[in-house]
Amino acid sequence: MEKVSKEQTQEWAGVTATAFNLSNYDEMYRIADWKEEERVFSWYDTGKVNIAHEAIDRHAATWRKNKTALLFKDDHREESYTFADLKALSDKFANVLRSKGIGKGDRVFIYMPRCPELYVALLGIVKIGAIAGPLFEAFMEAAVKDRLEDSGAVAVVTTPALKKRILREELPELKYLILVGADAVGPGEVSYEQEMQSAPADFQIEWMDREDPYIIHYTSGSTGKPKGVVHVHNAMIHQHRSGRWVYDLREEDIYWCTADPGWVTGTSAGMFAPWLNGVTMVLRGGRFKPEDWYDTIQRFKVTVWFSAPTAFRMLMGAGVDVVKQFDLSSLRHILSAGEPLNPEVFRWGLQAFGQRIHDNWWMTETGSTMISNFPCLPIKPGSMGKPLPGIYAAIVDDQGNELPANRMGNLAIRAGWPGMMRQIWNNPAKYQEYFQINGWYVSGDSAYKDEDGYFWFQGRVDDVINTSGERVGPFEVESRLVEHPAVAEAGVIGKPDPVRGEIIKAFISLRAGYEPSDELKQDIARFVKTGLAAHAAPREIEFRDKLPKTRSGKIMRRVLKAWELGLPTGDLSTMED
Ligand code: ATP
Ligand code: MG
Repeated sequence: MEKVSKEQTQEWAGVTATAFNLSNYDEMYRIADWKEEERVFSWYDTGKVNIAHEAIDRHAATWRKNKTALLFKDDHREESYTFADLKALSDKFANVLRSKGIGKGDRVFIYMPRCPELYVALLGIVKIGAIAGPLFEAFMEAAVKDRLEDSGAVAVVTTPALKKRILREELPELKYLILVGADAVGPGEVSYEQEMQSAPADFQIEWMDREDPYIIHYTSGSTGKPKGVVHVHNAMIHQHRSGRWVYDLREEDIYWCTADPGWVTGTSAGMFAPWLNGVTMVLRGGRFKPEDWYDTIQRFKVTVWFSAPTAFRMLMGAGVDVVKQFDLSSLRHILSAGEPLNPEVFRWGLQAFGQRIHDNWWMTETGSTMISNFPCLPIKPGSMGKPLPGIYAAIVDDQGNELPANRMGNLAIRAGWPGMMRQIWNNPAKYQEYFQINGWYVSGDSAYKDEDGYFWFQGRVDDVINTSGERVGPFEVESRLVEHPAVAEAGVIGKPDPVRGEIIKAFISLRAGYEPSDELKQDIARFVKTGLAAHAAPREIEFRDKLPKTRSGKIMRRVLKAWELGLPTGDLSTMED
């Protein structure tokens, strides 16, 4: 094995983004030390911490000041911002907030469509030491109220169209609405543009402790009521490393993460990972449309593209012919996270883009990528890859004992990595639940690790199906189902059965051109039986036009199950219309 030289180690730790292009994952895993990462940041010398400073101001004080930080396009605007521009704007916005008496520890939410002002606002909030709460624009009244109430938000940055969904009379702690693109009319309303015009440029950033919170993200609500997950400034260490080693970011990259900042992927991978590495990123406003997405890659010459299985499945549905109308030759690295990446989608990616899609696994709670397919490693389609150097992941039983290779169990992480959540807002008991087995953070996901150290996602622990004494992960069945030519998407649940314990029931949406029929059901069941296992074949199949999904695109199996069993569906605030 090739030895890693001291120079190389320093290069990896350096400010310049360098590919994690190791012929030698194992060696890197062995020597990786978070301390090396810390040396990148100015607080390592100054002792003064603020993640927004490290993401923006640090670069604005170097040759990168005139480097493009943000390339934006939607259906109406096309703009670009340098690191110096973002520093100046976020300083001003921070001054606006301070002038309202808002400061350290206050929760300030952002509820608006993706546009540069959203990012400026988020940076400004973090710069005064407040806690930013990004909310997805498609949330309706009850979802918005729940989150603002739970967090005790004092201000919301929003738009005139969305402010109607903020029930101010029911939120006594909410003092200000900061309106982007409108004059202030009502009491407590403030115009973003007017305030920015008169705000002073001079600003003293709030220096924080590494363990102080900077953001609160509510989870996707796939399994229940969304939790307010709190992350601290120290997360920058982890985000920076994911940026270099997982997203493979380099100085000259044009990076596009399609996730909305309302979800952790949109801030951790979509904002801080690139900016902490001084990398240019692309922001595409507006709704999903295959042509617009490919146009974005072509127009900005995107080199690194991060999206999600739901989007890749939709692109796959639109067909390879659409891909061929665009020049996507700039692409060097493609990533996916948020849900399992079906092998079928991986293979389609190879065909459509001539590239591997790199699946990586993490959670709102983990703050950044934990397990990944790295550029340097061969990919086993359907596997989420290996742990990020610095992260210890394992499959454990309910007592915390590590299980041998190929045994399904709890996917767990040795607690205490830099990006780990530090609290669930307002719910310390819930927080404790993650850490009940000696020293492990238990994810709630079920997986196994193969003899080569690759991790294979099986499903949520609660979704694992026990049929005739066999444990079946819904993901395996779903992945086989989508390989059938008629199947667009599939959600699989266990349905109680007096004889078998549970039987497998599949909910399926069909591709264009296919009609539901009993023959098709039988054909699909046979297809799973022959390709996977007889006991894994669905005994019941139901066709649906659409499957219930979260707004971040995840199939909501708990909703399928509740429908099936006639039970209450629980919190639906994050479900798509
Ligand atoms: P909630 O916690 O509110 O029920 P959620 O778990 O979907 O919702 P997130 O934190 O957005 O909220 O998602 C994390 C979950 O997404 C993981 O626990 C896992 O089940 C799934 N996930 C993320 N990335 C991957 C991946 N690469 N492969 C498989 N599953 C993934
Ligand atoms: Mg979760």
